[in-house]
Amino acid sequence: MSVIQTETARCAHNYHPLPIVLTRGEGVWLWDDQGRRYLDMMSAYSAVSHGHSHPRLVAALCGQASRLAIVSRAFHSDALAPFLEKLCTVSGFDMALPMNTGAEAVETAIKAARRWGYRVKGIPDGAAEIIVADGNFHGRTTTIVGFSSDAEYRDGFGPFTPGFNIVPFGDAAAVEAAITPDTCAVLVEPIQGEAGIRVPPAGWLKDLRRICDRHDVLLILDEIQSGLGRTGKIFCFEHEGIRPDGLVLGKALGGGMMPVSAFLADREVMGLFDPGSHGSTFGGNPLAAAVALEALNVIEDEGLVAKSAELGAYMADRLRGLRSPMITEVRGRGLWIGVEFDPRCVPARAICERLMERGILTKETHRTVVRFAPPLVIESGHVDIAVDALRDILDDVEAELGLSLVEPA
Ligand SMILES: *Cc1c(COP(=O)(O)O)cnc(C)c1O
Repeated sequence: MSVIQTETARCAHNYHPLPIVLTRGEGVWLWDDQGRRYLDMMSAYSAVSHGHSHPRLVAALCGQASRLAIVSRAFHSDALAPFLEKLCTVSGFDMALPMNTGAEAVETAIKAARRWGYRVKGIPDGAAEIIVADGNFHGRTTTIVGFSSDAEYRDGFGPFTPGFNIVPFGDAAAVEAAITPDTCAVLVEPIQGEAGIRVPPAGWLKDLRRICDRHDVLLILDEIQSGLGRTGKIFCFEHEGIRPDGLVLGKALGGGMMPVSAFLADREVMGLFDPGSHGSTFGGNPLAAAVALEALNVIEDEGLVAKSAELGAYMADRLRGLRSPMITEVRGRGLWIGVEFDPRCVPARAICERLMERGILTKETHRTVVRFAPPLVIESGHVDIAVDALRDILDDVEAELGLSLVEPA
């Protein structure tokens, strides 16, 4: 049996992978079991922002693994403090709570917000509400999918945790209208990744900041995908010059090596956790801490944030220049770009399959969007390879469909 057959027989079908078997990665490149080389234009949903097997991250991983990997937080380790010191310095928050996956860090944020609501704001016990956005993606736990607006994520998994209130994404007035005396937090992504790289109207975050201040509500941003340089700033909230009260990080924090996540906040909020109130066997383990510290250092040393801004602008320009009648929009920030296809012409997955045949790997999201989120170590020549391949595919599909290039209005 091929490995695809075995995986299909033995692994739950909770994903629909492209038919390719990867065996090796280096920087922006991946290789399959036939020795074919592919350009990675997706970087594991931003978890591989540093590129595959970055030598400094491999060294950090192997070095720490050979000394001390896991101890649990029943004891101190010499690796956790330097990591959190760096993370707090970079983000400007007083304290962090280290976890592993993104969903766990979001759960941590929810617990922190509720405790703050009861103990600081004075919300009656059990009544705290959190406002979230439609189209949100915050992970896959039962609590988190309970406030998803995507039927696919929820179907068959109820009953769900109460206390969440969904309002339209990008609509600050709707947030203000939804706030009650029992609202403890607004929890949103500054740009919605899984929803198709949905960019909110300019000024939305600033408005949310003002509204949250006015009503004594915490503003918590899930920057698991948008954070650590993806949008051309170290954090997406910097585009609007605001600061949230809580920040959720993950994905790239693990340096493309392992799951590392964290919830960050100032002492007023984080101080509400006491021994026994929260935990994770693996959260903050020395191996994760050493890798994540090096991941933060590499972002700085290699100027990856500026690179994301520059090459992202270059790539968006080139994609907008494609001017295909099948493309309805090119949007995004930094090296995080969604190309929206008219589903009457071609499903986004078909474009991804053709890109794969031409040695470019990415994945569609929400059926109509092809996402480009390459490792931030990418060079302009790589961007050209990807955009030129897409150009050729568009030509092919347009010819097959008998479409002619229409001048944009
Ligand atoms: C990926 C993601 C998560 C969930 O992270 P996991 O590590 O898969 O649990 C949460 N929020 C956002 C914005 C994400 O992109």
